[in-house]
Amino acid sequence: MAEFNADSFRSRVRAFLDENAPDLPFRTGTRAPENDEEDAQFRAWSRDLYAQGFYGADWPQQYGGNPHHHSDEEFIVSDEFARKRAPTPVGAGSLASHALINFGTPEQCGIYLPAIRSYEHVWCQLFSEPDAGSDLASMRTTAVRDGDVYVVNGQKVWSTNAYRSDMGYLLARTDPNVVKQAGISAFALDMSLPGIETRPLREMTGTSDFNEVFFSDVRVPASAMIGAENDGWRIATDSLGAERAGVGALVVRLRQNLDALIDLARRSQRSNGRASDDPTVRQTLAAFAARVQIATLMSQATMERRQRGTSRVMDVPVSKLSFANLNWDIAEYGVMLQGMRGTLAHGESEAADHGRWQDELLYAKAYTISGGSNQVMQNMLGERALGLPRDGK
Ligand SMILES: Cc1cc2nc3c(=O)[nH]c(=O)nc-3n(C[C@H](O)[C@H](O)[C@H](O)COP(=O)(O)OP(=O)(O)OC[C@H]3O[C@@H](n4cnc5c(N)ncnc54)[C@H](O)[C@@H]3O)c2cc1C
Repeated sequence: MAEFNADSFRSRVRAFLDENAPDLPFRTGTRAPENDEEDAQFRAWSRDLYAQGFYGADWPQQYGGNPHHHSDEEFIVSDEFARKRAPTPVGAGSLASHALINFGTPEQCGIYLPAIRSYEHVWCQLFSEPDAGSDLASMRTTAVRDGDVYVVNGQKVWSTNAYRSDMGYLLARTDPNVVKQAGISAFALDMSLPGIETRPLREMTGTSDFNEVFFSDVRVPASAMIGAENDGWRIATDSLGAERAGVGALVVRLRQNLDALIDLARRSQRSNGRASDDPTVRQTLAAFAARVQIATLMSQATMERRQRGTSRVMDVPVSKLSFANLNWDIAEYGVMLQGMRGTLAHGESEAADHGRWQDELLYAKAYTISGGSNQVMQNMLGERALGLPRDGK
């Protein structure tokens, strides 16, 4: 078998993106298509990315995976996509695919994996609830067995792109009488079933990426359960853990934002010259550059340890916290540098860079919450790395 050549793989990804990256509006973070036309474009683009083998390469060969796939590929792909600011596949198909491959039946894999690859099915993640976010195991949505079906009742929230999804990766409580993690099951939910109502939410960014999803006596075939009954916590933890490639891409984003910020400082005119002529602005930019450099080195070390199987308990919380805080600070400075124009909304022609910094700042809040909020990360650090007393929950 030929040795994996990281440089030639990177060149292939880069050349493909240079030639084919679609002219879709770039919005920072994990966002949903804004209308039917965008939805169709995102699906077509996502399908191409699977066809190229940039995604789904680690799947079993019978479902289109590449047996010669190398684990570095996913890091290179996410790095290059971030560099190009190219959209990644829309939806939670990748997350669901890990659950199906590792815990699903051959029948489920045969039905759902090809439809994820062809983008006939877009998936959403139906985990969080109004009173179960950080404390996810407290979820209250129930699935009660009734013959060949489970009857689902309850509510989910913050479900990205649920409004335009065909399938949902659902967690629901199947046993209320055991410790909370032990009574949860996972399902592949057909979003067109009667009794499911999806209501888009409008966020402060002005876009509708999140949704509320309500279930009223939804009759879900028992064959839609992924894995064994009450094994949902293990399945969810495993599939979330498999979504690891994004770490490196976040550092690329920081670097890009820093470069754009320096460019903005050079272009921003003040009464006494350009913003970059001001020594306090230059010092702030230099301090950001130092923090970006530290975050980059930390992320590289974290990824190398992961590859070698020598991860440390500090790795995830430290990387996540340093990214989320620095990303916020850079975005805030981008808004501040604009003076009054910083009050204009994203998309306004008079706003610097069409309001990119306003969108970055409003969305920066999301990065302090998703994938474990800053406070939860600090708890992890305190408890697991510093040996401080455990959080009460
Ligand atoms: C961009 C984005 C996309 C998302 N997409 C999805 C999706 O597709 N599907 C889905 O199911 N969910 C999704 N979520 C939801 C996400 O998983 C939850 O927001 C997250 O788990 C936090 O839960 P919460 O919002 O209910 O906040 P809460 O858990 O209620 O937290 C509120 C505040 O309390 C703090 N807090 C909570 N617990 C503690 C503690 N023990 N100690 C100290 N402070 C604490 C938190 O840090 C936070 O500041 C998404 C979130 C974001 C930001």
